[in-house]
Amino acid sequence: MKIGKNALTVLEKRYLVKDENGKNIETVEGMFERVAGAVAQADLHYNSQGDIEATKKKFYDMMTNLEFLPNSPTLMNAGKELGQLSACFVLPVGDSMEEIFEAIKQAALIHKSGGGTGFSFSRLRASGSTVRTTGGVASGPVSFMRVFNMATEAVKQGGTRRGANMGILRIDHPDVLDFIDCKKNNADITNFNISVGITEEFMHAVENHQPYTLIDPKNKEVVGELDAREVFNKIVESAWRNGEPGIIFLDRLNRDNVVPSQGEIESTNPCGEQPLLPYESCNLGSINLVNMLAKKNGKYQLDYKKLENTVKSAVHFLDNVIEVNKYPLEQIDFTTKQTRKIGLGVMGWADMLLYMGIPYDSDEAVELAEKVMDFITEKGRKESMALAKERGSFPLFSESIFASGEPLRNATITTIAPTGTLSIIAGCSSGVEPVFAYVFIRNVMDGTEMIEVNPVLREILEERGLYTDELMKKIAKEGSLAHISEIPEDIRRVFVCSHDVSPLYHVKMQAAFQRHTDNAVSKTVNFTHDATVEEVEEVYMLAYKLDCKGVTIYRDGSRDSQVLNIGSVK
Ligand code: UDP
Repeated sequence: MKIGKNALTVLEKRYLVKDENGKNIETVEGMFERVAGAVAQADLHYNSQGDIEATKKKFYDMMTNLEFLPNSPTLMNAGKELGQLSACFVLPVGDSMEEIFEAIKQAALIHKSGGGTGFSFSRLRASGSTVRTTGGVASGPVSFMRVFNMATEAVKQGGTRRGANMGILRIDHPDVLDFIDCKKNNADITNFNISVGITEEFMHAVENHQPYTLIDPKNKEVVGELDAREVFNKIVESAWRNGEPGIIFLDRLNRDNVVPSQGEIESTNPCGEQPLLPYESCNLGSINLVNMLAKKNGKYQLDYKKLENTVKSAVHFLDNVIEVNKYPLEQIDFTTKQTRKIGLGVMGWADMLLYMGIPYDSDEAVELAEKVMDFITEKGRKESMALAKERGSFPLFSESIFASGEPLRNATITTIAPTGTLSIIAGCSSGVEPVFAYVFIRNVMDGTEMIEVNPVLREILEERGLYTDELMKKIAKEGSLAHISEIPEDIRRVFVCSHDVSPLYHVKMQAAFQRHTDNAVSKTVNFTHDATVEEVEEVYMLAYKLDCKGVTIYRDGSRDSQVLNIGSVK
């Protein structure tokens, strides 16, 4: 199979099976065979005569062709003793010592197995309130988040990745101002992403410059009020400063809660794309859109037939994962199987647009996003209905918003994940993000420079006889192609990078995918370093107006250590 150098490095380091001495004893093909074999086994639960070998081959082919990849824990753990296959979990945090430390223990078990956890801390009593049994005062949600953070620090995720957490606090919690500031220092609470849980009521108050009330989570009494605009501005300024907090629109998560009888959705997973009920888990998988293209008359087009077939196999795959998964807790096993949520999404979206010659920041791209995602959700749902016929609907189907329609196997089908590692394995752009940079210079230890060029750019420049190492170095230094005169205008218009795309188009693209996604969309609106607070505010407002489920921003250079850098990497 075709696999890139970076992909191989990542796989060898963290995914392939090793012996006791840390030596790799699995090939890349061997890994996909292990995963395909383990996941295909679930067919036997329904059909003892099932052709497991055919299913295994179908799964193996789609992964080795890099058409579809399941989330990292599935690649790492399927067919192994650990066998924990999900990336996303949400745990409840109750307002007692027992419940708080129980949640920490549960999170540790999940992190150990490679999963990420989301929590709402909104049920914890405010700092300064009384503790009945001791007569002392409570220390509040933020102080407990620090304990969760330290526990996470100590537990490496199965020796492969450090635990990731989402921490959410409702806007009407009395400690909300402390919460907004809790990551002001870049060295604080580093194992958490934080988001303020925003209500529609709050947003109306912001728009009308009105005060809003703070509620004691314990007795539901009003304990104060704040100026909504001031709090909103504080959130925006803080996000401008170092990217946190993000916001999530709680009422929207619950508007789309497909089984309202199970209570409220109060949190998402760490990167925000998967809202879940307490104790639910979800396994994700992503289709590589670049490999859904076909060349016709010299032009690239999306092959919808191939996409449909891939969606079908992917839904089959992800439903099987729910069966063969070894859950870290009994309660998670039970709750997950009540709704059987899966999260199928896409990666390589920006690369696909490059091949098709469509600029990311164009209305044509936004319209295509709607069309493609609508197609995936519709075909995915059709396959889930077909599975329900054979395997039965999810147990809470009759209590779900779908109850009057055709039975479904899965309460949700689609989610757009960040695909941080999957996109490296597949060698494509991540999730639905624009390309961050087209050329990187890697400084190797002996002083030599290695040039890494986006494969689509390389192809087109070579085709037109424009490719030189000198030009690549220039692009790497500038970060963008926008002002490189050696590159023809038609190429420059299409090969836009993340910082060339206006924040408006970042949000428009997120909103377009969100409209056709059951769960949520992982997206970071990337700003250049010189962006203003007002521009950040505009984006937060726009995400609200365009019906996004939340928004996250990042201003270049606003943290000492950031994941993606323009220029050279050491
Ligand atoms: N995640 C995690 N730890 C990590 C990266 C990811 O727990 O270091 C979880 C988290 O819930 C995140 C989800 O995996 O929202 C999906 O992330 P991504 O798509 O980047 O993961 P991949 O499958 O590409 O590794």
